Amino acid sequence: MRLSFLCCIRRATVSLQLGEETRLHTIPKLIAGYRAFRETAYNQHAKLYEQLGDGQSPEVMVIGCADSRAEPSEIFNAVPGELFVVRNVANLVPPFDESGGLHGVSAALEFAVTSLRVKHIVVLGHCSCGGVKASLSAAEGKPVGRFIAPWVGLLDPARDAVLESEPSDPQTQLELAGIVASLQNLISFPFVKSAVDAGDLILHGCWFDIADGALHWRDKKTGNFQKI
Ligand SMILES: [Zn+2]
Repeated sequence: MRLSFLCCIRRATVSLQLGEETRLHTIPKLIAGYRAFRETAYNQHAKLYEQLGDGQSPEVMVIGCADSRAEPSEIFNAVPGELFVVRNVANLVPPFDESGGLHGVSAALEFAVTSLRVKHIVVLGHCSCGGVKASLSAAEGKPVGRFIAPWVGLLDPARDAVLESEPSDPQTQLELAGIVASLQNLISFPFVKSAVDAGDLILHGCWFDIADGALHWRDKKTGNFQKI
């Protein structure tokens, strides 16, 4: 599976280099990829897929970034049905907010905790995150996009604290601080807090270094991210 993933990366890179003519072949490649999935991964897990057709009972929720380079099921080598995944720009969790609006992350969180009763929630950040870059850009008076800027505004308190400390690598420091901010926002949801207090739910943070494929797990006692 990892080999096929790497092949996909190479194919995507070639597509970008060769331009429009090659891009026309992108969808046929997707369809060919689906057929390959049917012949390999699907067949390998056919019984599991059959069972999953009746429902899911994942024990882990992952909140990850939409970034194509940080794929939770690849990183954790998970089988179908194992991870309940929500992905968005910069793997952010908004604070508990009942003031109206459309709350996609909150809805998924509510379902995972109150219906699926997941036992773990993992906030998965990653290096060179575009959402984090957008947050740092906003601090320089250059907000990005119509929807991106207000969304990554969730990082403002963490970003301002990081910039105040004048780190040598604000991008990485904010990626890590953003994971912590999401963990703090998770606990602002009453159903999350009560599940955590009851010992039924544990919250985790980790950060993926794409180039070397290394995962750094947050130590709850020290708050440090350690390569595992
Ligand atoms: Zn990202």
